Amino acid sequence: MFLEPSVKKGWIEVICGSMFSGKTEELLRRLRRVVIANQEVQIFKPSIDTRYDETRIVSHDSKSIPSLPVENSADILKYAGNAEVIAIDEAQFFDDQLPHVCETLALRGVRVIVAGLDMDFLGKPFGSMPHLLSTAEYVTKLHAICVCCGQLATHSYRKSANAEQIALGATDIYEARCRVCYHQHDQPHTHSSGTIPVDMAG
Ligand code: ZN
Repeated sequence: MFLEPSVKKGWIEVICGSMFSGKTEELLRRLRRVVIANQEVQIFKPSIDTRYDETRIVSHDSKSIPSLPVENSADILKYAGNAEVIAIDEAQFFDDQLPHVCETLALRGVRVIVAGLDMDFLGKPFGSMPHLLSTAEYVTKLHAICVCCGQLATHSYRKSANAEQIALGATDIYEARCRVCYHQHDQPHTHSSGTIPVDMAG
């Protein structure tokens, strides 16, 4: 269980894992404690992610909290205001300036909490997440449960044959699998298309 540091300096926390690993639930848990502590918080998500709601962060268990959808990571700096805590959900969808934005905020003394998928549906590091995982003070990697064998799952398996680079969805399109079960079944499409896999949500 992650416990908040008692220092007042800024830092970066990353919550990562596959789909259905509870990332948004963990983010909401931390944010509820921020609210109890009477700290000013601003929550951002990429405007691309509108699966459940336009302006709230909603986890799979339907708990939610207001958030601000933004077009790019520069907008996070623009709308950060005087927030003591900045939360960023679905961080894998943001542009490659996100690590710089997080660093800038942390140096200002802001607690930055970033949640996102560490791997895309091809099992490749996703967007700016590897950079953020390297530079964060605190990293929490969560695991789902493999729907095939019941062991801990680290991979997001795409069930549909959708070849789009980004396919938003939940249980209709994806399922959590462990490494072995993920590789025992061929993905609906292969690496041969030449497109860079940028994919998924959750
Ligand atoms: Zn498995």
